Amino acid sequence: MPRLTQADLADRNRTFESRSPQELLKWAIETFPGRVAAISAIQQAGSIICHMIGTLKLEIPVLFVDTGVNFPETLATRDAISSSYGLDLRTLQPKQTMEEQTAERGVIYLTTDGQKECCRLRKIEPLAAVADDFDCLISSLRRTDEGQRSLCPILTADPAMNVLRLAPLVNFDDANMAQYLDSHDVIVNPLHAQGYPTVSCNRCTTPVVENEPRRAGRWRHLGPWQAYCGINPTDLDMDTKTSIELAQPLIDRILGREADFMI
Ligand code: SF4
Repeated sequence: MPRLTQADLADRNRTFESRSPQELLKWAIETFPGRVAAISAIQQAGSIICHMIGTLKLEIPVLFVDTGVNFPETLATRDAISSSYGLDLRTLQPKQTMEEQTAERGVIYLTTDGQKECCRLRKIEPLAAVADDFDCLISSLRRTDEGQRSLCPILTADPAMNVLRLAPLVNFDDANMAQYLDSHDVIVNPLHAQGYPTVSCNRCTTPVVENEPRRAGRWRHLGPWQAYCGINPTDLDMDTKTSIELAQPLIDRILGREADFMI
């Protein structure tokens, strides 16, 4: 099977820097018809991706990983977004409930290694279980967010799931995001207005106080704000030697070697 490396994507990534998020979403549906999905944790940026998919009427399903310990506000926002924007929203779940996991393994997310394992079981495994259905997964990562995300490319080869990752919002700064949310009256998780800049499981997310980093409320018990769940590979590693296996015609489309798919 032909391979597509991260280095192969360099030119495409350069040309995509000037594309709008909407143009990148349209490129995705044209390049991967029936084989592309968005992942949303129903945070602000994910709500924007959902709004764009809905208003552009793109046939892109939205995958939401329900770890079983999400805030009720998150689940209510997911349902409101799905029905209001007419989305094909698919909820993925881990094999075990949190109660079953705790009975078998204890409260593992309180340690650094345990957090990685818990996120693997409750977030990454449910997504990996459906990864074969897709060649491209869309995220809502932004370079404005701290840490490794400041380096996030628009296109990333994800060897773990053997898919291309597309991040259409990487150049959306805070002002862009506020303007889009406001002008389109996007449905957002009410927890954002209650001191939660980012939101994940209720076990590992707390509000932040003024002047704390945006992600200070995530895995606060582990400090010093370096932890990530790993569902986005660019949070962990950006090795240009990584590669994925795809059919040659699809690689040609991704790299813009077929004029019909140029944008
Ligand atoms: S955020 Fe916390 S509770 Fe949720 S999957 Fe990760 S470690 Fe487990």
